[in-house]
Amino acid sequence: MTIGGLYRNVRAKFRAAELETPDLDARILVSAALDLSTSQMLLREDELAPDAARLQIEHYAAQRLMGMPVGRILGEREFWGLSFALNASTLEPRPDTETLVDAVLSRMKPEAAVVLADIGTGTGAIAIALLSELAQARCVAIDLSESALDCACANAKRHGVDERFFGVCADHATALGVGFDWIISNPPYIRTEVMEQLSCEVRENDPALALDGGEDGLDAYRVIVAQAAAVLAPMGRIALEIGFDQAEEVQILLCSGGFRDVEIIQDLSGNDRVLVAAKG
Ligand code: GLN
Repeated sequence: MTIGGLYRNVRAKFRAAELETPDLDARILVSAALDLSTSQMLLREDELAPDAARLQIEHYAAQRLMGMPVGRILGEREFWGLSFALNASTLEPRPDTETLVDAVLSRMKPEAAVVLADIGTGTGAIAIALLSELAQARCVAIDLSESALDCACANAKRHGVDERFFGVCADHATALGVGFDWIISNPPYIRTEVMEQLSCEVRENDPALALDGGEDGLDAYRVIVAQAAAVLAPMGRIALEIGFDQAEEVQILLCSGGFRDVEIIQDLSGNDRVLVAAKG
């Protein structure tokens, strides 16, 4: 069968199963099995697909139809135009989180020699995306999970920023040292009672530790805001990803933690997604 035929077959199965993005999923999985980029695959659609790739595609398609997300099947996910390895201890980076990266970048000069801290780094996606854009920046990336941190360090190496990326295995609350220009975090923020309502794909594949924000979803923010107030440099800023309905509550936490000039930034769907504030 030709590459194009295989792709259309998989796409038809994914459409019939009513996956959310059947065409995109088919394109990514088929091109990965062929070891081609998605655009190369479309250019070579009349060529015959090698047998080994055909079997691999069938395997990938079966996994996807059983509810495994594309990123988990391939063990990697694209974020900020870079590919990040994942493991069982890391959240799969979400497109919404690019809003957080963008919010930080648009508030500093590309040549700024800033010192950043990324709390709960997971795959390292936020820290590494920032370091890839800020040639003089350095980042301390913290995670509770040693295995997440291994993944983040490997990703930093993969993207050539490992000399400016310092992984630390620690609790959110552990003192980082002082003098940070930015504290950045996409912490767990789902209310515990809502965890059960997450889609099966999320519940079965993303670690609860990276999602569950406690009874009111704000546990991690309380710790991070208090810690940020202590470790930020005098003109330092904090940037936090938030749930779509948490802007007001997290703003109150920031203000009572001594932060000022709180800005609320929306994601591409128009939901409140990021708060930025300055140390008062
Ligand atoms: N946005 C993620 C989700 O809805 C949650 C990420 C988080 O808790 N930090 O699955």
